[in-house]
Amino acid sequence: MFVNSTAPTTAADAAPAGAPVLELSHASFGYADQAVVQGADLTVRAGEVVAVLGPNGSGKSTLVRGLLGLNDRLGGEVRLFGTPRESFHDHGRLGYVPQRHTLSASVRATVEEIVAVGRLSHQRWWWPVRRAAHDQEVIARALEVVGLSDRADADVSTLSGGQQRRVLIARALASEPDVLLMDEPTAGVDAANQQVLSTVLARLRERGTTMVIVTHELTALAGIVSRIVLVQGGRIAFDGTPDEFATRTGQFTPDHHDHHEHDHDEVDPRPRVRGTPTSGPLDPRGGIR
Ligand code: ADP
Ligand code: MG
Repeated sequence: MFVNSTAPTTAADAAPAGAPVLELSHASFGYADQAVVQGADLTVRAGEVVAVLGPNGSGKSTLVRGLLGLNDRLGGEVRLFGTPRESFHDHGRLGYVPQRHTLSASVRATVEEIVAVGRLSHQRWWWPVRRAAHDQEVIARALEVVGLSDRADADVSTLSGGQQRRVLIARALASEPDVLLMDEPTAGVDAANQQVLSTVLARLRERGTTMVIVTHELTALAGIVSRIVLVQGGRIAFDGTPDEFATRTGQFTPDHHDHHEHDHDEVDPRPRVRGTPTSGPLDPRGGIR
């Protein structure tokens, strides 16, 4: 019998490193019968951190929503943790932060209550006392990492749009998912909080959490991303390592930083020049740092 007692306990235990977590084979997604993403082949394996890049309207959100079964699949196949999407029901293993999503002003709940929703899939009726203590700890930590500990008791409707984004990220973190899909999680989040989130994502990566992150902020994710997928015109135009992407950057970057969307209340103060990629780890002029 082989027992490796030194093996770290990670979130990837349930999906061993390298096992397919998300699989698309020749998948097309769209709305009504209009295909937006076409013929996508993609296998994301346990432990990978994939940045999804591409111009606005290219189909990044449609691709991510398609992985989750949130839009119409017009062809091909989706598998989650090896199971066909239609028969996958273990939703607690998936964490999702939708794009531009904030909370309705009519939601009457505190920040902490919203984040606590992330714990629901972990509830175990047979051990309620221990659960409560552990859940409380996870919720508190999730709030801390998004910098909202001091707003735990605030009504979410009193928070700014950017702060509400951070509440939704905290909710996803609190569910301790095996795979975390985030659609522009840091759009509208100020630079200091982006840094905090990058640190959190780096820690999640170390723990083995598989991540798919739609972003225009590659700089903030330097050293975290293990793979880059570029979507252009509804097709996967590039899929490779950051190194490989950097060598092809001249061919692929013109649009990446052009259409960044901001919340109105928390604006990333870093200067951006239209058509000029933000200097960063994938900046063709600087190479990878
Ligand atoms: P990205 O996330 O890369 O900006 P999207 O996936 O949001 O791109 O959009 C890709 C295309 O799909 C766009 O042309 C957009 O207008 C269209 N689209 C997005 N959402 C819907 C929807 N709910 N109904 C119809 N068309 C949509
Ligand atoms: Mg989008």
